[in-house]
Amino acid sequence: MSAIDDLPPLRDVIATHGLSARKSLGQNFLLDLNLTAKIARQAGDLSGSDVLEIGPGPGGLTRGLLSEGARKVLAIEKDARCLPALAEIADRYPGQLQVIEGDALDIDPLEHLTPPIRVAANLPYNVGTELLVRWLTPPTWPPFWQSLTLMFQREVAERIVAQPGSKAYGRLAVLAQWRSDARIVLSLPPEAFTPPPKVSSAVVHLTALTAPRFDADAAVLSRVVAAAFNQRRKMLRAALKGTAPDIEDRLLAAGIKPTDRAEQVPLEGFCALAREVAKG
Ligand code: SAM
Repeated sequence: MSAIDDLPPLRDVIATHGLSARKSLGQNFLLDLNLTAKIARQAGDLSGSDVLEIGPGPGGLTRGLLSEGARKVLAIEKDARCLPALAEIADRYPGQLQVIEGDALDIDPLEHLTPPIRVAANLPYNVGTELLVRWLTPPTWPPFWQSLTLMFQREVAERIVAQPGSKAYGRLAVLAQWRSDARIVLSLPPEAFTPPPKVSSAVVHLTALTAPRFDADAAVLSRVVAAAFNQRRKMLRAALKGTAPDIEDRLLAAGIKPTDRAEQVPLEGFCALAREVAKG
């Protein structure tokens, strides 16, 4: 029996179901259920929410989310070996855990969830950034989610909360901070995971704002920011040359010096530039 429920400890679950970690699937498991419950608490009050979890693996965070009172958890897992272990959790919490086997990049979770929806995950490193960018860039706002509570490599977490002028400031910071509040809420050493990864990790909590901080079209802003930071050492007028005709005039109209570099431009500047570029 474990600390948070009457299911077996995760080490036993892994041994029983032969869940040796696979690097190709980004498998670094959390086995301490007190820690997974703590991560679940960072997601906020779960009692009235459905929770989307990507990559439940043997179910440590899933159990944390359910023991913290999530109304329902929808867990999407690519590794079929994990399904029997997850089925045991579903039996323990009847009607509260739905597991879908598949690639989170291909599955639309919204068919299975009722708002309000929170997302919580110890993300597989190989798809984590792509999923985050998708969740941050829907054409309309607010998005389907109320909050995202996500484990990343520490370096990625720092890029999400970075401020202008810092080395970590880039596309992720602009897209995350444009329409949400983002903060690092927990830091974890490699030893918190089995097997331990090479780097430290951190949990980032993002809360969706009701409206964007500054007006801009999501697709145009994404394009402008991607181009600006793709060649971050270049002056903006050179980095953005292919983005729109007369880019120097548009930069000036947005209040940005064409000789500045991307990392000097605050969020407000990028949104102003996206509006100028959108004029066609
Ligand atoms: N949540 C578990 C935990 O905290 O111990 C496992 C986290 S592990 C870092 C990432 C999990 O994501 C693995 O179980 C892996 O099989 C799964 N995964 C990898 N790629 C995936 C994908 N494209 N879609 C869904 N799950 C994926």
